[in-house]
Amino acid sequence: MTGKKRTFVLYPSLGVGHLIPMVELAKHLLRHGHGALIAVVDPPDTDAVSAAAVARLAVANPAIAFRLLPAPASPDVGAHPVKRDLDTLQLANPALRDLLRDSLAGAVDALLLDMFCGDALDVAAELGVPAYFFFASAAGDLAVFLNLPYLYPTLPSSFRDMGEALVRCPGMPPIQALDMPWTVRDRDSDATKVRMYQWKRIPEGRGVLGPASARRRRLRAWPAGAESLPTGESGERHECLAWLDAQPKRSVVFLCFGSKGAFSAAQLQEIARGLESSGHRFLWVVRSPPEEEGQSPEPDPDLGRLLPAGFLERNRDRGMVVKNWVPQAQVVRHEAVGAFVTHCGWNSALEAIMSGLPMICWPLYAEQGLNKVFMLEEMKIAVALGRYEEFVRAEEVEAKVRLVMEGEEGRILRERLAVAREKALGATMEGGSSEMAFAEFLRDLDKSSSVNGECN
Ligand code: UDP
Repeated sequence: MTGKKRTFVLYPSLGVGHLIPMVELAKHLLRHGHGALIAVVDPPDTDAVSAAAVARLAVANPAIAFRLLPAPASPDVGAHPVKRDLDTLQLANPALRDLLRDSLAGAVDALLLDMFCGDALDVAAELGVPAYFFFASAAGDLAVFLNLPYLYPTLPSSFRDMGEALVRCPGMPPIQALDMPWTVRDRDSDATKVRMYQWKRIPEGRGVLGPASARRRRLRAWPAGAESLPTGESGERHECLAWLDAQPKRSVVFLCFGSKGAFSAAQLQEIARGLESSGHRFLWVVRSPPEEEGQSPEPDPDLGRLLPAGFLERNRDRGMVVKNWVPQAQVVRHEAVGAFVTHCGWNSALEAIMSGLPMICWPLYAEQGLNKVFMLEEMKIAVALGRYEEFVRAEEVEAKVRLVMEGEEGRILRERLAVAREKALGATMEGGSSEMAFAEFLRDLDKSSSVNGECN
């Protein structure tokens, strides 16, 4: 343990992809002898995936305290989801204040905030609690996010209208406008305004626990990102793992698209046809098409209707289709899995890297296009399949699956991944860069508490 025992309140934004890295951070803090409480905004009834994840993660991690913060639903029902999430987080501020001030009075050493929770800085300031951001995404993402509020207004138009034109962001290789974060593709939209506001607030924190790129903008940063590597869920073993046990080594293509990824019915059919003609085994997580979501709290995809006629029957011996959710961190580590078709969420990318698993990238939303660029062009550990809202043909699915599963390309990717995995593991070991950065962060906290004596 580094120094004295500290108590941290971790505050994720809405959605499973934000919660999981916070849980991993909490585990890391506990392993180092500190106390960790995760304050989660109570998911609304319409977000059954998040509600189920909170319940599952709380049961799987009894040493971590979870507190649900009641927040009134966003009053702006017609608003963009990104704006509604901001409203909800703002409306949760009083509940966060009550938790810090009343339930945990004086016992909190620091607040660790998700990148979208900048408004909680106001609560932290009011109560004199040091607040840091925890950035659980790629270093390059942070470089882009910190620069965009200043860079975007100087560009000729919205990313949406710039096509393949290159955007030059300090500290980054040039990136095609098409790969910039999907949420901000329209410069004048509410979603963009919300994101710019949230990213502008990041430098107001005491520092960033996460990638080193923050340092380029003279933010205090502790590059301990690898602390957030998800290690998986415990509890009952999912049936897909038993199915994988029965498959040959590296023979299965795994397709899973984060906590929100969903395709149109036509696109699902095309993926199915591509998988079938590739001749490879597959494990595929399927959600209801977006046009059918919202009709019930947990849309249950009707596989018989959504997939081509006879598909499930014909592929019974070599494919498994699971509705909505699998324990992905365990699946990607299974030796039967040989390739991962992913939407490039950063948790998914880290899980694949830590499993040495080649990726086939198909960004769907948020900053996934940027992550794809890092994995393809910088790390060279993946191949590209689709791009935001692009319709991908069965032939393309088949070709990319074959490329990685059969070709020399797959072997080269696996070699590079073995190196990347070793590096990431080395960073998290004693004396590794991530561990050292974490110790440095704790020393900064010591300094802050000698200034803010009231926190202890
Ligand atoms: N996940 C999972 N099972 C699923 C889908 C997702 O366990 O069926 C987990 C996945 O392992 C990852 C997280 O949910 O840890 C998704 O985070 P990511 O950053 O990849 O994507 P997001 O959901 O934020 O878009």
